[in-house]
Amino acid sequence: MTDTLNMPPLKGQYAVFGNPIAQSKSPLIHNEFARTLGYSIDYKKILVELEGFEGAAKAFFNTGGRGLNITAPFKEDAYHYADQLTPRAKSSLAVNTLCLQDDGSVLGDNTDGAGMMWDIATSKGWSVKGKRVLILGAGGATRGVLYSLLQLEPALLCIANRSTDKAIALADKYGSNVIGSSFDDIDTTQKFDVIINGTSAGLHGSLPNISESLFHAECHVYDMSYANEPTKFLQWAIKNKVVNYSDGLGMLIGQAAESFTIWHGLKPNTQAVMDKFRTK
Ligand code: NDP
Repeated sequence: MTDTLNMPPLKGQYAVFGNPIAQSKSPLIHNEFARTLGYSIDYKKILVELEGFEGAAKAFFNTGGRGLNITAPFKEDAYHYADQLTPRAKSSLAVNTLCLQDDGSVLGDNTDGAGMMWDIATSKGWSVKGKRVLILGAGGATRGVLYSLLQLEPALLCIANRSTDKAIALADKYGSNVIGSSFDDIDTTQKFDVIINGTSAGLHGSLPNISESLFHAECHVYDMSYANEPTKFLQWAIKNKVVNYSDGLGMLIGQAAESFTIWHGLKPNTQAVMDKFRTK
């Protein structure tokens, strides 16, 4: 590995805020982006007290901080903290990237959707245009990707959630090609081309309670969670004849690349970093 000590540092301090935070790969990813572009970067992971987001963010930006990534459970706090919001942050009601502006104000963005679209459309070459897409879950992750997903012009987007009212309320914010559903009432009369798991069921070792008849050999299945082995959801899909599948590692690296560009105005080689992390 190249010695980063001799590389010029990128201006300012950067960090990811979360609770818990020990598991975060963000410092490794941002260090790798900087290194491959010939720089070093000061990027830390910071454990923030559950009620302490605003104070921690203020202290960070008042003492040399220029950019923050935000992970669970603070994406909504970051949304309220930002002085300005991008359209995709407004649409998702959640912020995963804060950037100090020249006038001292803080811009809030949400790069999760762009990260997932980079992975699905650019890295994997999956097509969404004109397709029937099913997304499971109506939490922050799903809200974060809907704006970008709809830019790819699916024919139909069905949001299904354990708490049905949340899926319906979310779908109602969009056009007539976006529908909300319970898990039980997912329309199975026509097959879905793309199925995305945006639930956190896997974190608790369980699966969303959908019919396995939704899986078929031609569909593409994406799990926003990631692990060294196929996730429990992907193993279930594979058992049901699915051959095109992906976990959410590429989404993680794609959203980080987008944040990196917002802060530094530099585009990292996302695919090269993705390939490196996949083989780790
Ligand atoms: P939230 O807590 O905001 O939402 C959780 C969602 O999962 C809700 O829709 C909830 O349903 C549903 N859910 C939870 N448990 C179950 C279960 N046992 N069965 C069915 N549905 C369930 O979490 P996020 O949206 O922030 O995160 C969701 C997942 O996405 C996580 O696994 C997270 O790690 C991943 N993620 C990955 C990213 C990446 O870069 N790869 C980025 C962001 C998130 P209900 O409304 O009924 O409670």
